[in-house]
Amino acid sequence: QTPLLVVEKLKKYYPIKKGIISRTVGHVKAVDGIDFHIYPGETLALVGESGCGKSTTGRAIVHLEPPTEGRVIFAGQDMAALQGAELRKARTDLQIIFQDPYSSLNPRKRIGDLLAEPLLAHKLVPKSEVSQKVDEILEIVGLTKYHKSRYPHEFSGGQRQRIGIARALILQPKLIVCDEPVSALDVSIQAQVLNLLKDLQKEFQLTYLFIAHGLGAVKYISDRIAIMYLGKIVELAQTQEIFKSPRHPYTQALLHAYPIPNPHLRNRERIVMEGDVPNPANPPKGCRFHTRCPFAKEICREQAPDLTKTAHAVACHFPLV
Ligand code: SF4
Ligand code: MG
Repeated sequence: QTPLLVVEKLKKYYPIKKGIISRTVGHVKAVDGIDFHIYPGETLALVGESGCGKSTTGRAIVHLEPPTEGRVIFAGQDMAALQGAELRKARTDLQIIFQDPYSSLNPRKRIGDLLAEPLLAHKLVPKSEVSQKVDEILEIVGLTKYHKSRYPHEFSGGQRQRIGIARALILQPKLIVCDEPVSALDVSIQAQVLNLLKDLQKEFQLTYLFIAHGLGAVKYISDRIAIMYLGKIVELAQTQEIFKSPRHPYTQALLHAYPIPNPHLRNRERIVMEGDVPNPANPPKGCRFHTRCPFAKEICREQAPDLTKTAHAVACHFPLV
């Protein structure tokens, strides 16, 4: 099977400026050389604490921020090489939904106009059909055409996320980056939105990159999970593998943070992380997790472990078995 999306050696560095002449004094290495791919119809979860580079990765994929280095290959095409009509097509195929849809919805516009906007901008349907298309999409995400004349503030958090989903979906994308789409919602609403995303995936053959800060939200929606720490992927495997036999100490620590007791981990050592996430402008030498890892040895402080090229990939000198 050919992947729909291939991310190759992706790096995103932000310059740190200082002084009145804005001298660059260093870089925040938000994403520091990551590789992964996503197959059509698959959901790959990208999980890690805030600041690990997961949102930056998502934004690079949908072309909101060009990578510093590396490539994003979508449907066999290098995104950086696309221009004109090809680039516009790829940009409709790649959509993103955000944690807080309210911040991405213009509060002064009615929902009907907010949904018509992308259709008109991309000239996807004739003007005369826009209104009908908007009605359809509202129905699909569980709202109605009677919501068209309302403003964003008149909706609940869950409804606003449905509008965010509708706005992405109306362009008939192939891949949607879901950047913590349920993190800001009440627990009771989270399941509804996750189920909606699952149903839409089936109905429209969508592929998802699902970003989350914990493993709880991705257990039922993801096929595979990539764990990120300080700009790097430290483990990548099938979802059940990550839950049953996590191999990276950081993944184990994340699993312990997961509120539902995990029977598979009963006989394992409970891994407690020490300290806070280090500054991504100045990540630790060697394995970036060594400052917090209870198993760190001399080599961990010197040499960065590579992510193995196996189906259950892990980047650790002493992976757990
Ligand atoms: Fe811990 Fe060493 Fe593995 Fe890094 S390489 S996670 S410090 S054991
Ligand atoms: Mg984020």
